[in-house]
Amino acid sequence: MQALLTLGLRNGKLFDISEVENGIKCNCFCPNCGERLIAVSNIESKAYKNSAHFRHESGVECVGAYESALHMLAKEVFSKLKEMQLPDYHFDYDQSNKFSLEKSFNIIKFEDCQIEKRINLENFYFVPDLIGIVNGTKIFIEFAFSHYIDVEKKEKIIQSQVACIEINIKGMELDPKELENLFLSKSDKVYWISNPKQDRIYKEKEKRRKELNEKEKQNKLQALKEGKVNSIQITNNKLWICPKKINFFEWFKTSKYNQHPILKEIANGEFWNEKFYGHYSTEEYIFFKGEKVFTSIYPYLGVDDDPNRPLLRDGLKRILERKSLDSNLCKYCTFDKGLFEYKNKTFQICSFKGKKGFIKDIL
Ligand SMILES: [Zn+2]
Repeated sequence: MQALLTLGLRNGKLFDISEVENGIKCNCFCPNCGERLIAVSNIESKAYKNSAHFRHESGVECVGAYESALHMLAKEVFSKLKEMQLPDYHFDYDQSNKFSLEKSFNIIKFEDCQIEKRINLENFYFVPDLIGIVNGTKIFIEFAFSHYIDVEKKEKIIQSQVACIEINIKGMELDPKELENLFLSKSDKVYWISNPKQDRIYKEKEKRRKELNEKEKQNKLQALKEGKVNSIQITNNKLWICPKKINFFEWFKTSKYNQHPILKEIANGEFWNEKFYGHYSTEEYIFFKGEKVFTSIYPYLGVDDDPNRPLLRDGLKRILERKSLDSNLCKYCTFDKGLFEYKNKTFQICSFKGKKGFIKDIL
């Protein structure tokens, strides 16, 4: 059912049903078709007053009457208020995208608010509902009920470099207070169609960000060239040269592995042929200084279980691993500072600092 028309037009001004005399004496006209209205209200009966409304003199069902009245009321309330809560600016104009929010505004006061002026923009004529002036800048205000600004019109407005806000008033009551609340609060019903100033600021910011990125890249390259940053070239996912690999035993001596006597000896330069013998799980052993040393995590038949065996085995595996260190291991290395592409080659940036300058000039 269509909402009841409770506003009538008299001498270009809107009057509420409660402000006028009953019947034809209301002296009001339809904001949509201009036909004489009859006030259907009875101030004697409260029940009747609650659903008081205007009807057309001819009894015709005027489809656009409510929308026209609401549209007119919105303009009237807004231009009287001369204040509004500006909507948030999103660089992609998508209110629902919290990642695109660039700027929030306060409530602003308009110096002036002009009603329906035909504006000759570069490529088309635009008749905004209102033009608010703030700090000498025009903001076009459009109230939408069923006809929203379409893509084509939006495109033209953006091209014309004018600021424009659309306010969706669909479904609202013919109530000045409700409209005032909408204008003064943040709502997804109020949004920018175009904001050239913020567009410019955003574009500038993006440009600076890109320049900074480029500069950072150049700085990184320079640091690489000057040998200030350790880097390793990656080929087929294998680290061509890993500072930790070269300095492996230096690190090994500071680790828990150094607690194991055999590992400690190896770290100090004692020879181990880097080979495991026997079956993987039951007969794994190594030869160390001519002795057979069991490294299996399972107790070997006839050999006492040694609680240090997992440490030994793990440490030996680490020693072997360093030989074939690949870039996947970097992910777990605290010295990894990411990958770097240069001249179609991939480099691993590494913050591991050795005592000696072992880093090769790779560029
Ligand atoms: Zn009408």
